[in-house]
Amino acid sequence: MKPAPFKYHDPRNLSDVLGLLASLENAKLLAGGQSLGPMLNFRYVMPDHLIDLNRVGELAYVRVDGRQVKVGAMTRQRTLERSAELQRLCPILHECLQEVGHFQTRNRGTLGGSLSHLDPAAELPGVMALYDAVLEVAGPAGKRSVAMADWGRGYMTPNLNPDEVLTGLSWDAWDGPHGHAFAEFARRRGDFAIVGVACLLALDARQQIKRVAIGLIGVGYAPVRVTVAERLLTGAPFNDGALEAAAAEARKIEAKSDLYAGSTYRQRLGGVLTTRALRTAYERAKNHDR
Ligand code: FAD
Repeated sequence: MKPAPFKYHDPRNLSDVLGLLASLENAKLLAGGQSLGPMLNFRYVMPDHLIDLNRVGELAYVRVDGRQVKVGAMTRQRTLERSAELQRLCPILHECLQEVGHFQTRNRGTLGGSLSHLDPAAELPGVMALYDAVLEVAGPAGKRSVAMADWGRGYMTPNLNPDEVLTGLSWDAWDGPHGHAFAEFARRRGDFAIVGVACLLALDARQQIKRVAIGLIGVGYAPVRVTVAERLLTGAPFNDGALEAAAAEARKIEAKSDLYAGSTYRQRLGGVLTTRALRTAYERAKNHDR
């Protein structure tokens, strides 16, 4: 199939993007096109106007200041994957990117596109949830910041108005030695996950769990932090009892059913992957190989 007819716009800066968004009806923003392209071709979306962000240079950047990370919405997934600074500060981002599509799609796909498309099983939103990232949005009414916990408003529905553009994200990398792990189950390599788990874990001097973050993807319409498990584990020794308690909490997370998997299957898978990811993160925290 081919897209329905649309008028193409090729702005060079953010203010022109905002001007177009304010003046055009039924417009869509084009980033890497790795999701929007197929949706246009299948005519799932039929915009009258396509606003191409690919030459808005000010939206593509990776800035690291100490532990503070700022990434522009148009930053390619491959740029994030190849950033030595991000590999050092946020190794889980590099690990999760190995599961995002294929390197060919990552060459074009962007961080902002993944967050704006907000597929329930997308890996990058799962890692952004782990870091409690803040998303910067701009529109005719000005700029606003959205906490990652408030980003998903429904199935593939981010907290974005039709006349707004996601301009960037920021988060604080964890300080000090910690472990990380990203585990997922997908039907084929490069597919979206059926369920995935991302976790970070830091130990104190007594090898007790000092800090832990556990995020599930593929169960709800947006990433879910298993906050009850995080509270249970914090301050506790890392042992089979702690693992089972965390897995039990992950299994309680409400899960959707679709043609790929039922909710019960997803909940069980969430428990298994949570155990697997926590074990890996613990070993890495113990060996400080961040
Ligand atoms: P686009 O496709 O250009 O846009 C996606 C949506 O976001 C559109 O609605 C667009 O209007 C909107 N949008 C984009 N940027 C902005 C912005 N700055 N502000 C507001 N709205 C915006 N993804 C995964 O997470 N995991 C996978 O395993 C995976 N596998 C894939 C396999 C294949 C073969 C392909 C083709 C894609 C796969 N993807 C996967 C999707 C890929 O990661 C896309 O890059 C991503 O979903 C969207 O990013 P994009 O830059 O291509 O955005």
